[in-house]
Amino acid sequence: MVDFTLTDEQKNLRELAHDFAEKEIRPVAWEYDKDGTWPQDIIDKAHEIGLMNTHVPEEYGGAGLNYFEGCLIEEELSWGCSGIQTSLGANGLAAAPVSLGASDEVKREYFAELIESPRLASFCLTEPDAGSDVSGMRTRAVRKGDKFVLNGSKCFITNGGYADWFTVYAKTDPDAGHRGISAFLVRKDDTVLVDKKEDKMGQRASNTATITFNDTEVDARYMLGDENKGFKLAMMTLDRTRPGVAAMATGIARAAFEFATEYSKERVQFGVPIAMHQGIQFMIADMATKVHLSRLATWNSAVLLDQGRRNTLESSHASASPRTRRWRCRPTPCRSTGATASSRSTPWRSSCVMPRSCSSTRAPRRFSVW
Ligand SMILES: Cc1cc2nc3c(=O)[nH]c(=O)nc-3n(C[C@H](O)[C@H](O)[C@H](O)COP(=O)(O)OP(=O)(O)OC[C@H]3O[C@@H](n4cnc5c(N)ncnc54)[C@H](O)[C@@H]3O)c2cc1C
Repeated sequence: MVDFTLTDEQKNLRELAHDFAEKEIRPVAWEYDKDGTWPQDIIDKAHEIGLMNTHVPEEYGGAGLNYFEGCLIEEELSWGCSGIQTSLGANGLAAAPVSLGASDEVKREYFAELIESPRLASFCLTEPDAGSDVSGMRTRAVRKGDKFVLNGSKCFITNGGYADWFTVYAKTDPDAGHRGISAFLVRKDDTVLVDKKEDKMGQRASNTATITFNDTEVDARYMLGDENKGFKLAMMTLDRTRPGVAAMATGIARAAFEFATEYSKERVQFGVPIAMHQGIQFMIADMATKVHLSRLATWNSAVLLDQGRRNTLESSHASASPRTRRWRCRPTPCRSTGATASSRSTPWRSSCVMPRSCSSTRAPRRFSVW
């Protein structure tokens, strides 16, 4: 049976996230985005009221929310600021391979840290020569006794400059393509260097860094999943996190739609608010439809996961559709708000700048390759 009716608990959760976005994120979002300010104060507050690490299972001290409930939160926080939500949500991406592939003991150790204090973790897959094509990675992990030694660089790593630990993918059998990749849980130490902070065009309140591992030693018990099965773990992780990316894109599209609607009611031309001109009404109606469809596709892909079913195709549709729609929603407020759209001081400008992590090319490629 198809039923997207929210329970009272889910409504409360969405309200909590919306309230937080409205009171704590929106008032500072523009300043943080403009200057690329690291939102530590907001991370601390979000952690305190339970808006981070929501997927950590109850048995490990977390809230154990399902994927659908995670999407409710992610849409609201992204409506506040997509960059800040990226910072708040990245632990979920780093923690997913731990949930899937770590021993009970390791989960207890690492999840406890995330729950106890506002610590951060990063997911390290992308490399300069390995974006959509994960199998092109060069980072190596070589076994030495009961340890592995990691060498290589990962780029575009969210929260990389502030993370206490990393889930890292490396080649353990360099000649075996995607069948020679393993995943590791790596703690930050002196051998892990933050090389570069990206100066991005959007999502500027999130930290995106290059991380280099120089002879970094990892105990074999911190391998996630089986040796040479890291590619599958990465793909399973992306299936689980793609609905959240789609929810983020829906939140951004909704913010752009709301700003455009408000502006069209205020701006008077030819003696009437421009919202009275039918051409503008068409644009606004079109945006409302696209936001609605994006949310439905997102919820569909999350609910499948919660039902324990595979969602690769649906989560790819979901993450591709709001991105596409947001591309379409983005020029719409720009057109319907005229020159105001071109001003850097227009607050929704940041909502309308395409955050590339929401336009990750990995999802569409899944259609062509897997
Ligand atoms: C803000 C931000 C945060 C990020 N955070 C993380 C993170 O935390 N951890 C992490 O590991 N990575 C992260 N990434 C990296 C992101 O996941 C990659 O950008 C993504 O995987 C795409 O890789 P690429 O950018 O190298 O693009 P490429 O793979 O080089 O693609 C370039 C272009 O070629 C197209 N293309 C590629 N292959 C095909 C194909 N088979 N068919 C058709 N077209 C194709 C793509 O659609 C794209 O338009 C982040 C990126 C950004 C911008």
